[in-house]
Amino acid sequence: MRIYGPVPSRRFGLSLGVDIIPHKTCSFDCIYCQLGPTDNLTADTETFYELDEIMADVEEALEDDPKPDVITLAGSGDPILYDKLGELILRLKEVSDVPILLITNGALLWKEEIAKAALLADILAPSLDAGDAETFARINNPHTEITFERLLDGLRAVTHAHRGEVRLEVMLVKDINDSDESIAAIADLLKTLRFDRIDVNTPVRPPVPERGAMPCDDDVLQKALAAFGPKAHAIGKFARRMDVKSSRGRSFDDRDKDIREMLMRRPCTQEDIASSLGIKRHELIKILERLTEAGLVARQITDGGVYYHVPASNPTIL
Ligand code: SF4
Repeated sequence: MRIYGPVPSRRFGLSLGVDIIPHKTCSFDCIYCQLGPTDNLTADTETFYELDEIMADVEEALEDDPKPDVITLAGSGDPILYDKLGELILRLKEVSDVPILLITNGALLWKEEIAKAALLADILAPSLDAGDAETFARINNPHTEITFERLLDGLRAVTHAHRGEVRLEVMLVKDINDSDESIAAIADLLKTLRFDRIDVNTPVRPPVPERGAMPCDDDVLQKALAAFGPKAHAIGKFARRMDVKSSRGRSFDDRDKDIREMLMRRPCTQEDIASSLGIKRHELIKILERLTEAGLVARQITDGGVYYHVPASNPTIL
């Protein structure tokens, strides 16, 4: 169970997940955590699993699918708490040239050994949800060893030192960190970090509502995107049509079937199909042309745009 996927990720494509942390072992207890409350709130690193066992699992998974888009170190807690993280990343690079993605809350990057390990990842994806200490405490519920200043010190040092891609995530929670003041404070701090992209998210899945973490409104997102600058992009609720089921690894026949199954339920635009099935737009255009020529899919131009559907004369799924 340490390996999951490859699974489609809205942020990173097809991801082979490597979970190196026991369930809800984390330095935060975020109110929006999809895994529920943190069982083991800790700031100490540990050898939770033997490195050789993790490597054996990864190598077996790579035999089945040698080319995911990324190998993701994440999962049931903060992977940065694994004390052999640096060694693990180096060994993963020995067996595969797939980029290593490290998703972390960033809380412990101020610790030297952890920073060194994080710098080895090809893609570093830390979080920043607050622009001030009070909001930080409310939304992330950190371990007592982690102050807001330490969090920022670590984030600043590591994002500037990292030579690869840095993808920040900001989670906006209604009435917690989505006021104009909160967004402005986060935007100010972002100016002190180095990053290639910011993914702006909002909680949508249970059990978050029970913990008081509700999605913020679309107009708040627009304000946040404007305040965070051109590198900011919306994900989550705001881009839910991007909640893709990847088509990667599907044969042409399978993809034809996926498209026709989708169109059997309701007419869709190219954008609907591309985002729902994770098919690149230029590929989709060719597939739709072929299916239309074969009479397996029909096009209809309406005031709302061009829609595709399965014609009543040919309703059978391939
Ligand atoms: S940092 Fe991630 S795993 Fe930890 S509590 Fe927050 S959302 Fe959950």
